[in-house]
Amino acid sequence: MKLIKSFLLLLLVLVAACQNPEKPVKEWAIALHGGAGNMDKAKFSEADIKHYEDALQEALDIGKQALAEGQSSLDVVELVVRQLEDNPLFNAGKGSVFTNDGRNELDAAIMDGSNLNAGAVAGVGDIRNPISAARLVMEKSPHVLLIGKGASLYASQNGIETVDSSYFYTEKRWQLLQRALQRAGKNGTVGCVALDKNGNLAAATSTGGMNNKRYGRVGDVPIIGAGTYANNNTCAVSATGHGEYYIRYTVAHDISALMEYKGLNLQEASQTVVNGKLSNEAGNGGIIAVDKKGNITLEMNSSGMFRGWANSSGDEGVAIFK
Ligand code: ASP
Repeated sequence: MKLIKSFLLLLLVLVAACQNPEKPVKEWAIALHGGAGNMDKAKFSEADIKHYEDALQEALDIGKQALAEGQSSLDVVELVVRQLEDNPLFNAGKGSVFTNDGRNELDAAIMDGSNLNAGAVAGVGDIRNPISAARLVMEKSPHVLLIGKGASLYASQNGIETVDSSYFYTEKRWQLLQRALQRAGKNGTVGCVALDKNGNLAAATSTGGMNNKRYGRVGDVPIIGAGTYANNNTCAVSATGHGEYYIRYTVAHDISALMEYKGLNLQEASQTVVNGKLSNEAGNGGIIAVDKKGNITLEMNSSGMFRGWANSSGDEGVAIFK
């Protein structure tokens, strides 16, 4: 009798374990991107690849260390995006592309998943790190999105570093514009999502926008729910790709909504959006996302995305091609 009881108990424990196949919760998790697009591996030299991988790893290490030390996900996504903004390899901050008439107009957004606070700036041409201006708008102003000169004035009045517009001149991007004036443009952006030790999610995205875009054009990045979104109940998302499609499909919020209302997991929700309607259009690009359990997904419908990921269990890596 005793033996049967023990056997039944063991059976019950096994059944319960099978019904809860969720992976263990990670203490912290982080993912970052440096833009996606159709990338032809043959056009990258070994040295180029190493250059990008080192830059991604450097940003990832900064984020990993900060999360392991217990910093908030909000601080970490800002810190990592600032690092990527300062690197001319990426189309954000220093390395931003040019508009059709030769200007730099930068967009950025940040979102705190613990309270759904969000801040963004769009079309700024003299703020060294637009992601910090976005955070300022979120924390110090009663608004979500400030644009152009108004955003710059607000940032400089509140101690954010401004630069002469010549700071954003890089020969590589200038030549890219010259080529694009004859042919098609190119994508690129930076972003970071993180889960911290307190279970809070945050997302940050920053971009120079689309190469050869029209003066005054605003993309998906500073539109909360399109290129950037975070909600502690679901996930944090940062997107990259042809912004007009990401705005029309409210990509980042759609992923969160599929989890919230339909009960999809992070990967199912991300794949549904990125490989579904978005890939049927010219909305080619990708997203990085992390959920409240520390699961990470890096989805793309293009042939490459500069990306990096890490979590407290020691899984980590950087990659470029699909
Ligand atoms: N999504 C950005 C924009 O449309 C560009 C990119 O990610 O490449 O402004």
